[in-house]
Amino acid sequence: MKKYDYLIVGSGLFGSIFAYEANKIGKKCLVIDKRNHIGGNIYCNEIEGINVHEYGAHIFHTSNKEVWNYINNFAEFNRYTNSPVAIYKDELYNLPFNMNTFNKLWGVKTPAEAKAKIEEQLAETNITKPKNLEEQAIKLIGKDIYEKLIKGYTEKQWGTRATELPSFIINRLPVRFTYDNNYFNDTYQGIPIGGYTKIIEKMLEGIEVRLETDFFKNRKEFEEIADKIVFTGMIDEFYNYEFGTLEYRSLRFEHEILNEENHQGNAVVNYTEYEIPYTRIIEHKHFEYGNQPKTIITREYPATWKKGDEPYYPINNERNNTMYGKYKELADKESNIIFGGRLAQYKYYDMHHVIEQALNTVKKELKEV
Ligand code: FAD
Ligand code: UDP
Repeated sequence: MKKYDYLIVGSGLFGSIFAYEANKIGKKCLVIDKRNHIGGNIYCNEIEGINVHEYGAHIFHTSNKEVWNYINNFAEFNRYTNSPVAIYKDELYNLPFNMNTFNKLWGVKTPAEAKAKIEEQLAETNITKPKNLEEQAIKLIGKDIYEKLIKGYTEKQWGTRATELPSFIINRLPVRFTYDNNYFNDTYQGIPIGGYTKIIEKMLEGIEVRLETDFFKNRKEFEEIADKIVFTGMIDEFYNYEFGTLEYRSLRFEHEILNEENHQGNAVVNYTEYEIPYTRIIEHKHFEYGNQPKTIITREYPATWKKGDEPYYPINNERNNTMYGKYKELADKESNIIFGGRLAQYKYYDMHHVIEQALNTVKKELKEV
């Protein structure tokens, strides 16, 4: 007799949604996580009355109404709209790339003038079909913005030349010919009032959770404990790296409590020059319009990844995607193991993508929701 219907490896968004839905229909679940807290990368820690996004800024955004309604069952969201600014040397620009950015950079005031400027810069190159991130960026917004706001940030973020990166990464950012500093194009956006951890706590209420418990440390025992496994860790590790090691980019977060009320005037400030070793500084209180007497900032330093480090970003280049394809073939043949989330699907997923994936899995597996 197996003790559980499902063993869920990972208490991030994917694992927690699955556990919640399975528990709701009477399935017995055990959730394990190797970290000492629930929530995976959306975990928030309250310090000085401020919800600190321990693993970097997390802004919820989606155009999927089902996903939006679903997550609103677990929290109330505020009206936060992400409008980061970028600092390059002593110049400050609005993001994403929009009329405010173009005006500051070139003095142009109308969309026609901005488009003409970009066309003029593109004409100086021979890019027709962009082959990589650099070419894609220049095609979208011209050489000046590429050099000041993209090249340095991208190369330190990914530890690779922009000419060696896939162009899809830059397509995440809107390019807009209006004076609109909203970083996302989605219909719905906000921050859960009280932080993300509360969402996960609600999902996992009444479910057995074991923290500081690594699946691989007791693999045999865990494989026998439940009828099925939902695995949200690294897929290559699950298969003992038999087709090779998938590559990731890691990060180091440096948190600091400051004795001042308002340090940078914005939740997210990007530092786009290569010489500054961090990519951005987050000031957490601004996500929830806090007015606490102190403030907490986090500097985000990109870092090379090696086995054992936190795998924050999958590097979805050709080599890795091909290797992932081989692991996926094995995964597709499994009848008692479900792979889900950013690490097991090796995709640069945002939270709304993960929720969408989890709900699809729930529908297929539990015929519910
Ligand atoms: P995770 O949150 O990674 O959870 C996986 C869990 O599995 C972890 O807790 C891990 O400890 C556990 N685990 C792994 N292996 C094992 C094992 N062997 N045994 C036991 N436990 C294990 N998305 C947005 O929508 N908006 C944003 O603004 C945003 N900003 C981001 C900023 C950064 C710096 C990063 C890194 C990501 C950001 N994301 C953002 C993406 C978001 O974090 C993810 O989409 C989401 O958290 C992924 O959920 P998950 O459940 O797939 O994985
Ligand atoms: N990017 C950039 N300059 C910026 C912000 C982003 O060049 O000021 C590029 C960079 O390559 C980054 C990508 O756009 O990896 C996606 O940015 P996003 O803010 O979506 O990254 P994430 O929040 O997922 O780290």
